[in-house]
Amino acid sequence: MAGLGRFSGLRVLKEGVSGNRGWAPQWRDPAPKPAYDIVIIGGGGHGLATAFYLAQAHGLKNVAVLEKGYLGGGNVGRNTTIVRANYFLPGNSEFYSHSLKLWEGLEQTLNYNVMHSQRGLINLFHSDGQRDAFCRRGNAMVNQGDDAELLDRDGVRRHLPYLDFDQARFPIHGGLLHRRGGTARHDAVAWGYARGASDRGVDLIQNCEVTGIDTEAGRVTGVQTSRGAIRARKVAIVTAGRSGQVAAMAGLRLPIESHVLQAFVTEGVKPVIDHVVSFGMGHFYISQSDKGGLVFGGDLDFYPSYAQRGNLPMQEHVMEAAMTLMPMIGKARVLRSWGGIMDMTPDGSPIIDKSGIEGLYLDCGWCYGGFKAVPGSGFALAHLIATDRPHDSAAKLRLDRFRDGHGLMDEEGTGAQHNLH
Ligand SMILES: Cc1cc2nc3c(=O)[nH]c(=O)nc-3n(C[C@H](O)[C@H](O)[C@H](O)COP(=O)(O)OP(=O)(O)OC[C@H]3O[C@@H](n4cnc5c(N)ncnc54)[C@H](O)[C@@H]3O)c2cc1C
Repeated sequence: MAGLGRFSGLRVLKEGVSGNRGWAPQWRDPAPKPAYDIVIIGGGGHGLATAFYLAQAHGLKNVAVLEKGYLGGGNVGRNTTIVRANYFLPGNSEFYSHSLKLWEGLEQTLNYNVMHSQRGLINLFHSDGQRDAFCRRGNAMVNQGDDAELLDRDGVRRHLPYLDFDQARFPIHGGLLHRRGGTARHDAVAWGYARGASDRGVDLIQNCEVTGIDTEAGRVTGVQTSRGAIRARKVAIVTAGRSGQVAAMAGLRLPIESHVLQAFVTEGVKPVIDHVVSFGMGHFYISQSDKGGLVFGGDLDFYPSYAQRGNLPMQEHVMEAAMTLMPMIGKARVLRSWGGIMDMTPDGSPIIDKSGIEGLYLDCGWCYGGFKAVPGSGFALAHLIATDRPHDSAAKLRLDRFRDGHGLMDEEGTGAQHNLH
């Protein structure tokens, strides 16, 4: 890699004894050029990963990422950091499986410590019916080549002895263990991809809001921004919660609603939770950060909004679920809560596709699960932009499934289990 230098144990030692004065900024801060081959709108996890793989896997370097705020200030820095490949339905299953494989080599690929921790994820079940659904899901995961293990009540107790197993409403019957699931440090993922892309020649342009998308005779020709017009042969919309608004600049109406999702963190406590635990009945999930904070969240606020803050009824609902599952959490003080804007599709599954306007690509619909998708999405979108063909792992994530109903991830739109994505 050029310029910014590689991280290594020796380098850390050298910098440590010389006052850490040798570290350079992690990415360049260029002014926008008047034209690029490819412009990516949105400097979140997906936009930065796409830029990285365009340069690294396809040798395409005349690329700019345009970010209206600062890199990583969107949902990539607001999520609860869970990484997993435990999806059930074809389409999602192979995509997230591929993404997890990329996660497993990511620190080497980026030469960056993203603190990927495969500490294991346990989804709890509370009834025989729910156990059957988890058996199906586990079999689908194993068929896909991923890991899944069904635990009975004692099996869960061995891993998570602090749970309340006998509460009257949701007694714990068992769980599905996904050992390769876990967490990663969200900011570091954005920074690692940014550094890798910048080092390979990609221009990362912050404080540059896209305000218009230019088209001519059915093909994209560039964008208007708060820092002037930029011409481009190819443009990708990778703006997560803002996807609907940005696509509207090109006259497109996407099958997306934006909703708020909240999360919470407590003050730091000693190590107590060494897995990711998910409690589907109360919609609550939790893990412990490396700093000791208990990081947890619940369901969407369920009303369309672009406000990055939540409401008190959902906070109450999440706290109630936390207390039901692990009463000990009542002793921890909540340090802060926050919200992020989620790009929700009708079938809860993403879109990586051409838009219908030549040269304009879409990467959106990540709902509340797009952090784990960052490597897979960047890889697949870069492949699509570079070759104009979908990558195998993302071949089913098509836009037209919402027009004709064929290929919807909820089993053609007729499945009773629409939430099993
Ligand atoms: C509370 C919470 C918890 C979550 N937990 C998890 C989890 O545990 N696991 C998981 O897999 N996923 C989780 N997610 C979802 C995940 O964070 C998102 O799906 C994912 O980060 C979205 O992709 P992104 O990183 O590219 O988005 P973002 O980081 O939001 O990037 C989009 C970027 O586009 C920029 N932008 C928008 N409009 C414009 C414009 N006009 N011009 C220029 N730039 C623009 C924005 O400023 C933003 O930086 C969670 C989300 C939230 C909010």
